[in-house]
Amino acid sequence: MPSAAPASARQPLWLQELEADILRRSPGEPEFHQAVREVLESLAPVFERRPELRTAKLVERLAEPERQLMFRVVWQDDRGRVQVNRGYRVEFNSALGPYKGGLRFHPSVNLGIVKFLGFEQIFKNALTGLGIGGGKGGSDFDPRGRSDAEVMRFCQAFMTELYRHLGEHTDVPAGDIGVGGREIGYLFGQYRRITNRWEAGVLTGKGIGWGGSQARTEATGYGNVLFTAEMLRTRGEDLAGRQVIVSGSGNVALYTVEKAQALGAQVLTVSDSTGYVLDDKGIDLELLRQIKEVERGRVSDYAERRGGSARYVTGGSVWDVPADVALPSATQNELDERAAAVLIRNGVKAVSEGANMPTTPGAVRLFQEAGVAFGPGKAANAGGVATSALEMRQNAGRDSWEFARVEEELARVMRDIHATAFETADRYGRPGDYVAGANIAGFERVSDAMLAQGLV
Ligand code: NDP
Repeated sequence: MPSAAPASARQPLWLQELEADILRRSPGEPEFHQAVREVLESLAPVFERRPELRTAKLVERLAEPERQLMFRVVWQDDRGRVQVNRGYRVEFNSALGPYKGGLRFHPSVNLGIVKFLGFEQIFKNALTGLGIGGGKGGSDFDPRGRSDAEVMRFCQAFMTELYRHLGEHTDVPAGDIGVGGREIGYLFGQYRRITNRWEAGVLTGKGIGWGGSQARTEATGYGNVLFTAEMLRTRGEDLAGRQVIVSGSGNVALYTVEKAQALGAQVLTVSDSTGYVLDDKGIDLELLRQIKEVERGRVSDYAERRGGSARYVTGGSVWDVPADVALPSATQNELDERAAAVLIRNGVKAVSEGANMPTTPGAVRLFQEAGVAFGPGKAANAGGVATSALEMRQNAGRDSWEFARVEEELARVMRDIHATAFETADRYGRPGDYVAGANIAGFERVSDAMLAQGLV
């Protein structure tokens, strides 16, 4: 884990000391350290131009969550045994709007993971321009292998504590790893039951028939493909006809495959935590959806049923497959320096993050040095949360928009985010550096709001 690395020598001393201090205050949270360091590495030129942001201690304030909740979740499994999990909600920053960010149910979840995701979410949400603050939550509960009834009882127990901290003007969770439409349904049902309120805007990712937005399920994957196409377009290139590799086979991955195919690319791979599938004819999306969404199966089942063109590779790295475009869409730190070197050697032109922080800092550096277009998750996967904000808007107006309208808004937001990151990078002398552009633009938007609001 890269958290032990020294502060970047390119930073001014005061920023290095500040970074060390922030990390010292959050021991044992390597992913949070990585996320903080990655943002701080972009900010030195901002403080040169705007010293008032340093005096007002914006970095110190931003790195400290407004509120961190940890709670016990007790529930009963199908065999009548008592189970105990830990729940989290980090309400990181509400300068621009209610806390907004997903819930993750995965055995790896701990406070450091939730803080890294919440910290990233502040800047990502600012970039959307849609008036949403940053937060994230979840639990170390593992939904894999659990029955529907067990997942429901867990969600009910989780919401029985969390509900008191939520509200459409306060904190609005959504899904993330392990939390999809089924879980949002159980969570919303319990919230409604406890509060006796039909408060549609308290959760996003709801079902279409009861307050959900068209295209929310598709939005993160679609958005990342649109962002990738925009990066290529800026370089006078096109996504159509390109070979694409995708990791993961969950919500983000499935709709990444769908949109990439719709724009004329050929998608060769998907994966899960046990292996990957390489399909020489291109992924058969209908079969994949049947296995993943209907049967809740694995990508190995896909390879078995697809026949000749597909093979399943246990373990191994999906990044070994030669392609023009790589779209990591599973989890953090899944694409390291070794994988980046292989991708570059194989001639990759663009890498864009559907997942949150899937690329290690060393790998990002290699891509940038090699001139590969690199889309950081904060910008590239913001389509999901942007569409959540559109869902909140529809809920506030008791309205429901057609698919085409939401998709059009999503495309507009993704173009705006791309332009903002691109132009900001240019303005600060880092042309083509979307990492710097996204970090600086997000930081300036939140900082300006905090400055205007006094000592908050
Ligand atoms: P899902 O739970 O739907 O899918 C996650 C996928 O990633 C599964 O294929 C899973 O495989 C794989 N995966 C999870 N953990 C690991 C691991 N430790 N190693 C290897 N593979 C793993 O989640 P989402 O698709 O919603 O989320 C994927 C990523 O996108 C996450 O980083 C999330 O934070 C990010 N994201 C999601 C958004 C959304 O709208 N859902 C919005 C923005 C970002 P397996 O089944 O084997 O666990």
